[in-house]
Amino acid sequence: MSEVIELEQVTFGYKDNGFSLREINLKIKEGKFLSILGPNGSGKSTLLKIISGQLQPSKGFVKFKGKEISEIPPKERAKRLALVSQNTTIVYPFTVYEIVAMGRTPYLNFLGYEKKKDSEVVHYALQQMGIEHLAGKSITRISGGEAQRAFIARALAQEPEVILLDEANAHLDVKHQISIYKTLKELNEQKGITVVFVSHDFNLPARFAERILLLKEGRIFKDGTIKNILTQGNIKTVFDVNSEILQRENSIDVLLRV
Ligand code: ADP
Ligand code: MG
Repeated sequence: MSEVIELEQVTFGYKDNGFSLREINLKIKEGKFLSILGPNGSGKSTLLKIISGQLQPSKGFVKFKGKEISEIPPKERAKRLALVSQNTTIVYPFTVYEIVAMGRTPYLNFLGYEKKKDSEVVHYALQQMGIEHLAGKSITRISGGEAQRAFIARALAQEPEVILLDEANAHLDVKHQISIYKTLKELNEQKGITVVFVSHDFNLPARFAERILLLKEGRIFKDGTIKNILTQGNIKTVFDVNSEILQRENSIDVLLRV
């Protein structure tokens, strides 16, 4: 399997504060399911924006399948890589269908006509996120969790090779959190889509991800398998909380000690 994403010696800083991502070395193989965990402000969202080409590193490089990401034209990038951002807000009252159909924009011809295939993909994405019944509703008049599912559906409608999700289940109830992970896992296993999921929860990533990256103060603190990474010691160092790790057959559960 080849690398789909490659970051080498990536450094990035915002101009107006002291935060920086430093010396990020990261290779993600095609078809993997990776979770990035870390406390607030550790740089998770910044890292996803760097990976997706939204932000440019000041040093180092970001490659998508061997090609510098900034050299891939935006339209092609949107067909290959989708980012579900944290806290997306839309003020214009687009319908849920329209929002999801925006995921098809890179595929439309210059006249912007939606073909049969485009509407099929949109309907399938609505169905995967369980929001077909909301298709005609305005995005401004549904709950935060429902809107979140619409944004994930829009990303699925892009039919990307890589999907990056930034705390995409933060507004969802537990049932829908699990169902989003299941849908992503299915896409990952059946279609070989590479999934990078930023989360601040431990237990769902522990069930679904193959690899976990712990971020601390803009650096990769640890990178490895669930069992090697989700340890009492690492959780204490990175999140400053006490925990207990319960071993399961194929996974682990993290119990927080409060
Ligand atoms: P996380 O997603 O892990 O909570 P972020 O990547 O959003 O962390 O933020 C890392 C740090 O960078 C924080 O200190 C945050 O305040 C700062 N930051 C995030 N976005 C910007 C921005 N657009 N301009 C300046 N500073 C920012
Ligand atoms: Mg964030």
